[in-house]
Amino acid sequence: MNPASTCAIIREMEITNLASEIKKQLPAELVNFMQVAGKVAANQGQNLYLVGGVVRDLLLRRTNLDLDLVVEGNAIELAQQLAEINQGKITTYPQFNTAKLQWGKWSVDLATARSETYTKPGALPKVKPSSIESDLSRRDFTINTLAIYLSPSRYGELIDRYEGRNDLEHKLVRILHPKSFTDDATRIWRGLRYEQRLDFQLEQETLQLLKRDIPMLDAISGDRIRYELECILQEERPEQVIRRDEELGVLIKLHPSLKGNGWLAEKFDQARQLSSPNPPPVELYLALLAYHLTDVEIEQLTAYLRLSKSIAQILRDGASIKSKLQLLAYPELRRSHIYRLLQGYSQSAIIANSLATGSAIARRHMETFLRTLRYVKPALTGDDLIRMGITSGLQIKEVLNLLHEARLDGKVTTKQGEVELVKGWMGEVT
Ligand code: ATP
Repeated sequence: MNPASTCAIIREMEITNLASEIKKQLPAELVNFMQVAGKVAANQGQNLYLVGGVVRDLLLRRTNLDLDLVVEGNAIELAQQLAEINQGKITTYPQFNTAKLQWGKWSVDLATARSETYTKPGALPKVKPSSIESDLSRRDFTINTLAIYLSPSRYGELIDRYEGRNDLEHKLVRILHPKSFTDDATRIWRGLRYEQRLDFQLEQETLQLLKRDIPMLDAISGDRIRYELECILQEERPEQVIRRDEELGVLIKLHPSLKGNGWLAEKFDQARQLSSPNPPPVELYLALLAYHLTDVEIEQLTAYLRLSKSIAQILRDGASIKSKLQLLAYPELRRSHIYRLLQGYSQSAIIANSLATGSAIARRHMETFLRTLRYVKPALTGDDLIRMGITSGLQIKEVLNLLHEARLDGKVTTKQGEVELVKGWMGEVT
C-alpha cells in the first residue's frame, strides 16, 4: 500500500463505528463468527473485543486475518462454547487463561482481559484477570492499543484510549509511558520492527527513551531475544529492520560482529528471489546474517540465543562450507569430488554459501549438488552385491562407493553398466 495515502484513508473512513469497515475488509465467515461470538459472550454477561494488530491493520487497510479477541470474563469457557457452535477444535492454555479456536481454514486467539505488573526490569510480568482498560494499558505501542466492541449493543465501536488512531494518522510508533522499555526491553526490538514494517517513525520521545534503555536489553533472556529475531526474519523485508537496529545500536546487543549493511540487503533479496513464491526459511536468513562470523562468534551467538541444535548446525555448516569455497571454485572439479565436499551439509547452509560466494564456479557447483548430485544413487544394493558373490562387509562398502562415484561422474548410467563394473572389480581382486 502507498504509505502517503494512509492519512487520507483513515480520515475518510467512518471512525467511530467500524462495523462497515469490518464487513468490507474481512471475509464473511470471520465477520459472522465475531458477531456470533459477541452475542454468546453478551448472553453470559461478558464483553468481548477485537484487539491489537488486526484493528490497527483494519484502519490502515492492510490485510490481516489474525483475529485476537479479548473477553472480560473467561476466555477458555467462551472458546469452548464457540467451538461447539462452529464445530471447531480448541487448544487451551490455562496458565495464561487463553485459548486458540480453529475451524475450517480459520484460527482465532481468545484471551481473558488481564493486567500486568513488572516486579523487576526484564522479568516476565505478573498477570491477573482484569478489565479491557487494564488490558490495553499493558500494551507496547499506542497503535496496538486500539480495540473494537463486539457485543451486539455496541458492535463495531472503536475504543481508542491512547490516541492510537492519531498516531496511525501521523505514522508514529509511540510507547504508552516513559518506563515502557525499562519494564520490557523486548519492546525495543518490537518498536523498530513496526517502524520498518509500516514505514512509520519512532515518535521523538520514544526514540530518546529507546536509545537510553538499550542497556536494559541485557536483562532479557536469550529465548525472548531469539523470539524477537525470528519475528524480524519473518517480516517482508527483514534487512530494513536489521539496518535500523544497527543504526540505533541495538544489533550490537545481539552480537558485536553482526552487520545490517548493503551486502546483507542484497543477499536477503537474492534469497527471496530464489525462494519465490514462498518466503525464504528463517534459517536461511539467519545463515546469511551470521555468514561473516568466525567459528567462535557463531558459538557465542548460538549460546546467547539458545539456538536449537538443528539451527546451530546450519550456522556451523555454513562456516565449514565457507572454508571449502576455494576448493569448490576449482573449474575442473569432478562431480564426485563436488559431492564429497558438500555431502552431509544442511541445504540452507549450502544455499547461503552459494548466495554469498563471489565465485561463479563455486556457485554453479553448489547448485549442481543441490539440483542433481545429492539425489544420485547406484541402482545396485548391498543385497545385489551379496547375490553376486561379494560377502565381506568392507568390500561391499568399497564397491558401493565405487558405484556411487561412477554414477556421479557419469561413467555408468544403467544398472547393467553397474553389473559390468562390479564384475570387472571382482576380476581384479580375484
Ligand atoms: P503484529 O505483529 O501484526 O502486531 P500480532 O498482533 O500477532 O501481530 P503479537 O506479537 O502476537 O502481535 O502481539 C499481540 C499484541 O500483544 C500486540 O498488539 C501488543 O499490543 C501486545 N504485545 C505483544 N508483545 C508485547 C510486549 N512485549 N509488551 C507489551 N505488549 C505486547
